[in-house]
Amino acid sequence: MNGRKAKQQKRALRTRNERLLARLRAAEAVYVAPVGEAFEAWQKGPALLFVPTLNEDYPPELKEAVALRRQAAFTGACPCGLTTRISQAGEYDLAHKVTCPADTLRFDPMAAAAGAALDYRECVDVFRRWKAGALSG
Ligand SMILES: [Zn+2]
Repeated sequence: MNGRKAKQQKRALRTRNERLLARLRAAEAVYVAPVGEAFEAWQKGPALLFVPTLNEDYPPELKEAVALRRQAAFTGACPCGLTTRISQAGEYDLAHKVTCPADTLRFDPMAAAAGAALDYRECVDVFRRWKAGALSG
């Protein structure tokens, strides 16, 4: 591939990602379905988001992290200075700062310890049904 073509493709990808992010930001989150007992699927514009469910039985630090992750999913913002982007694969990526309790590296072990880990097989199942139009959002 020559340099000009590579540049054009890069620009096209950046334009696509900016449009997707704008649609995501503008869209109202709509509840779609439960994902196991600890997560919920929400549609936000063109994206399906897997959001942890608030549970009063969680330890306080997990409750705080769940609240931050929900806020980040619905608003695209977090006090930590969250950054959002569309990955090369076209996925909506929410990156909390490593010091944020909602950061994946801190959140996942906390959720797993509380028996509230995300079940990826169930995610794939819900995603397929949503994509096929079997779940409204
Ligand atoms: Zn954060």
